[in-house]
Formats: sequence, C-alpha cells, structure tokens
Amino acid sequence: MVPLVRGVGQMGGSSEEFRSRNGQTGQHFLLSAAARRLSLLQVAKLTTDQAFALFKRIRWCDNLGDPVCPHCDCTAVYEYKARRIFSCKSCTKQFSVTSGTIFHNRKLPITTILIAIAIFTNGAQGVPALEMSRLLGVQYKTAFVLCHKLRESLGAEIDEQTASGVVEVDGAYFGGHIRKANWAENRVDRRLAKNQNGKRMVVIIMRERGGRSLPFVVKQEHLAVPELERRIKPGSIVHADEARSWDPLNYAGLDMKRINHEECYADAEACTNKA
Ligand SMILES: [Zn+2]
Repeated sequence: MVPLVRGVGQMGGSSEEFRSRNGQTGQHFLLSAAARRLSLLQVAKLTTDQAFALFKRIRWCDNLGDPVCPHCDCTAVYEYKARRIFSCKSCTKQFSVTSGTIFHNRKLPITTILIAIAIFTNGAQGVPALEMSRLLGVQYKTAFVLCHKLRESLGAEIDEQTASGVVEVDGAYFGGHIRKANWAENRVDRRLAKNQNGKRMVVIIMRERGGRSLPFVVKQEHLAVPELERRIKPGSIVHADEARSWDPLNYAGLDMKRINHEECYADAEACTNKA
C-alpha cells in the first residue's frame, strides 16, 4: 500500500527536522506550526481541483507531488486534465491519483477523503466510526471501512520506522478482561492463565526523547524483545522499567538504564514516564 499517511506526516517535516527544531525551541511538536499543516478548516474550503492537487502532493510526497506510475514506477506520464487521470509513457497503462492506494476504487469524493484524513490524523485518541459517519455524512459501514483503512496505512508505515538516541520503552496490557461471576462460589482466580480468555494483548511503545513514539502490539511483553532489537539502532540509550522481560536487551548493543518502579518513578539515571 502506498504510504498516504507518511505523505501527511511529511507535510510536517521529518523526525530529524522536528527533533532539531524542538531542541532549539524546547517546544512540544504538537504545539508547533508543523503539526497544523493539515487543518480541517483549510481542507473543507478546498475546491475539487485544489483537493486533487493536495492529494497528489500527499500521495507522491517522495516525488514532490509529481505522478509516478504505480505499475512500473516510471515518472514520465501524460495527464488527462479533464478526467483527472494519468497515462504512463512507458507501460501505457492508465491510473488515477488513488490507484494502488487504500482509496483505490473509491466512491467518495477526494475532498471527503481528505477531510477524513484531517479528522483522523489530527486527533490524538482515534476517531470512532460513528462519529466519522456523522461528520462526513456517510453510512456507518463506509466510515468503519474508511477508519480501518487509515489505521492499516498508519500501522504499515510505523512498522518500518526505527528509533535511536535516547529511547524509552514500556508496555501496557489491554483487553481480555474476565468478569467476576455473580455468585462468590462460582468465582475463579482470574490471574491464572487457564482462567483467561486469551484476548489480552500488550501495546509496546518506543518513545524517542524529542522524537517519535512508535507503538506495536504483541501477545506478551517479552515477545517484543526481537522487534525492539531490530528497530532500536545500536548505540542508543534505552530506558526501561524493572520488568524481567527487558533483560535480554542488555546484550543487544544498547546502553540500558533501568528504573525500579517499586522504589521510585524516576531517578537521576532512568525514567520511562514519557513512554
Ligand atoms: Zn507505467
């Protein structure tokens, strides 16, 4: 899938760019002007032509908004202005601005899709499909699929990103809650694996200080170690809590700083509170 969400992200500059800017100003990225590049108000005011141009810029962000053939990666293309489609000079196939993206075969207008991207990417805590359906004036099922496509695109993009510098690592368990039975004599020990429903998952976060936060999901905390070793660059300083799951990271060429939360939440050496 084409990284549409990366295109939106790049409108705000690269990780290194905003990290250096933050270093200079001490300002949080979300408070900076770069975090306001895709404003809902601006997107809602766009004409169809302007929305098309913006979508091109987001879609082909690596080529400065100029079309690239999704079939053969050729950059020499004809544009049929009236129909808003392109034709490749090399393989002669036709394609649109959404071909090969999550919005391929779209029925929604480009402006509506851009508004959905703006709503979704500007919210910090996700957007419920029902809310999206009311905001866009589309059916619940359409909004549901749209939200999942955006999540899929975000996930695919983040999966390839690496962390470096000072990185805080932590995990939090979600889901799989077993209700207590009504009668006390029917209740079981919910801490035992045999009494759990197996739906509990742990969200792991790698948070670069002054940089990005990269989450991923695993079944148990210790299963995150290979992924952390793959994605945290050697020479980085990693802050983690006292959980034994993180012990193997000590041998992965990383400088580990540990904090025991039974004693305190931060000391002069280590802190994972931002994670
Ligand atoms: Zn082509």
